[in-house]
Amino acid sequence: MEQRTCAACGKAAGDANLCKECVKDWAKRLAWLLKAGMPALQQIAYKQATTRERSPRHGNRAYAAPPVNEAAQALYSAVETHLQLTGGMLGVKPIGHDRYDRPRTLMQWADITRLLLHHMPDLARLDTAGDLYADLIRLSEKVETATTHAGERRLVGVCPNCLNTKGDDEPIRTPIYAARSARYTVCPECGAWLDLKRVRLEYLRSAGLMHITRTQADAARWVRENTGVSVTGKDLANWRSRGKMPSTRRIDRHYWEWNIMDLLACAQDRAERDGGDV
Ligand SMILES: [Zn+2]
Ligand SMILES: [Zn+2]
Repeated sequence: MEQRTCAACGKAAGDANLCKECVKDWAKRLAWLLKAGMPALQQIAYKQATTRERSPRHGNRAYAAPPVNEAAQALYSAVETHLQLTGGMLGVKPIGHDRYDRPRTLMQWADITRLLLHHMPDLARLDTAGDLYADLIRLSEKVETATTHAGERRLVGVCPNCLNTKGDDEPIRTPIYAARSARYTVCPECGAWLDLKRVRLEYLRSAGLMHITRTQADAARWVRENTGVSVTGKDLANWRSRGKMPSTRRIDRHYWEWNIMDLLACAQDRAERDGGDV
């Protein structure tokens, strides 16, 4: 049998174009996109728009349209297109063609991803396996960034003081960016002194990011990163078993769909027991 080398790492790859380790990583990234990455990105990209229209009772605060929407939407469709082209390379039907005449599977991303996960050995044998895998690494890292961190200075929220000020009958939305380690900042528009944890909590509530899909450990990490409160996976399990997460539901063995209000309530409780530092 001809011995090929892995297009990604150079190790022996048998009769495929990628080695077993790289194929395993490829599958792991696909599974992560399916269960966590894309659902989270979808929430950021699309859910806010509908939540805004349906919650007039929250007043103007609920209308704080976060400036992440367009970038998230563009990334969301870039990932879907990539998956459709990957399906097209395997000849998964129904097939259409994009404007460069490349075959493209006409299914939505979740269906294709499930299907691809069942055909990893076929994917690894494609001549283009190395390029497809490299593209998927790049895309999954972008999704990870878009759904968790946003570089050095991240969007914390919008200035609550500006939001209470009407300019031309519209509340003024000033995005507040800050370094991850910062605790306070000054609004560039109105000069208000802002406690970033409060800005963040208010933003998460009003932005309509009501659910995130994560494992228990990752949900705890999400709470730590977004609130600065040191919540552990065990805290979340305790909180849940006490019936205090009514809107959080289990998706499979590892993943849960967490309601953000449930997570924030747990963080608040934890912070109060630790000495009231929220
Ligand atoms: Zn490899
Ligand atoms: Zn302001």
